[in-house]
Amino acid sequence: MSNFADFGLASPILEALAAEGYETPTPIQTQAIPLVLAGRDLCGIAQTGTGKTAAFALPILQRFSAAPSRRVPRGCRALVLCPTRELASQIADSFRTYGCGSRLSTAVVFGGVAIGGQQRLLAPGVDILVATPGRLLDLIDRRDLSLEHVQVLVLDEADRMLDLGFIHALRRIVKLLPRQRQTLLFSATMPRAIAALADDCLTEPVKVAVTPVATTAERVQQEVVFVPMPQKRALLTTLLADPAFERVLVFTRTKHGADRVVRHLTDHGVEALAIHGNKSQPQRERALAGFRGGQIRVLVATDIAARGIDVDSVSHVINFELPNVPEDYVHRIGRTARAGAAGTAISFCSDDERPYLRDIEKLTRLKLQVVPLPANLPAVATAPDQERPAKRHFNAAPRWPDNGRNDNGNGRPTSSSPRPARANGQHSSSADGQRERAGDARDLPAFLRRDADGGRPSRAPWWQNRRGRKPGSRAASSR
Ligand code: AMP
Repeated sequence: MSNFADFGLASPILEALAAEGYETPTPIQTQAIPLVLAGRDLCGIAQTGTGKTAAFALPILQRFSAAPSRRVPRGCRALVLCPTRELASQIADSFRTYGCGSRLSTAVVFGGVAIGGQQRLLAPGVDILVATPGRLLDLIDRRDLSLEHVQVLVLDEADRMLDLGFIHALRRIVKLLPRQRQTLLFSATMPRAIAALADDCLTEPVKVAVTPVATTAERVQQEVVFVPMPQKRALLTTLLADPAFERVLVFTRTKHGADRVVRHLTDHGVEALAIHGNKSQPQRERALAGFRGGQIRVLVATDIAARGIDVDSVSHVINFELPNVPEDYVHRIGRTARAGAAGTAISFCSDDERPYLRDIEKLTRLKLQVVPLPANLPAVATAPDQERPAKRHFNAAPRWPDNGRNDNGNGRPTSSSPRPARANGQHSSSADGQRERAGDARDLPAFLRRDADGGRPSRAPWWQNRRGRKPGSRAASSR
């Protein structure tokens, strides 16, 4: 299918897509839309940035507008579950954008805001409901919502819902749904718990895979700078002195780390805001709107909060701290080079993070390009209040020596830090108490692993993998 009209979508939907500037379907859309229109269950391996939202939203809108039905009070016809408020809002916005020419109603509910407005929203019933699992269950428990009329269930970013501890909520929700329904599950990775959930709630699903997690976005220039932890902040401000760093997303591992980076940047005259789980919904929305609108040049985020951030034209992603879950690296750098643009990802790697770098290079099968520290980087004395590795590492291992590598260029060893435990397959709790679960590439289903094999890099269109062919063309399979 080379254009959206080939899917047989109704003209109001085609007009909405044209208004958005969508000309050709992305691979996940090409594969998924006909199957979903045909009523099949689907298990899609796809990350954000691949166009997966439209891959499920368009056929749902098409099917519902072709078969209008009365809204049932406190009911919905399609239920889309996703892990975060930001993602929920974005999915609902996409439904409204693509469905602007239809009479279908879309509502979004998530925690962290007053429940009253959401209760009122649901009272007359809606066509499409986008929700995070916790708030959805609250509304069900208060009898403000019934799931008995759901025709289509979408589980989006299922692996991240698992990471956030929503697996039991998901299982409870699935039990409340009619057996006779269509189910679409999207996940960037396929850990065992998600594969088991898919087995339980999908019926003879078609499997579709694009951009496997191990295939890092080819358009992203990926660099690493070896820098002692105490010099990271100075390195950040030195880099940001270059106006080419137009719209920058900085990642830290912890919420407090994000706040510290924002304070440092603000003190140095750089407009920056943080987005993480301790921020209220209005604060998050303000930060995102400012970043999107260009008033805020730097957004500092934790992995969980950043999930679902859909901002085009991010020129640089900076990994101020490397993620201890290698899959998160792939998600982070996928925030730049979106929708065909180019982008750069720069990782600041201190000595104690080298094991994380190894895990990332193993997963992505790429060696990040090593860039030297800028010559004009101010020397920084190690102060007692500067970032320390997360507490969980303190009993972990012997002190990790500098191996005489002298990354700080002053002939003295860098601050020696305890070596972090290997992340793969472990649960760990970072300094501010955010639970994170490491994925495991070995958990990928065979059809995905096969596609993740080597191959020569190419400068391919934005959705093509490093072999220069559509990633799903061989991987798509059906049972
Ligand atoms: P998603 O993976 O759903 O988060 O989409 C990532 C970005 O791609 C969003 O900004 C979409 O608006 C955009 N997008 C989705 N499908 C297309 C398409 N067929 N052509 C151009 N942009 C698209």
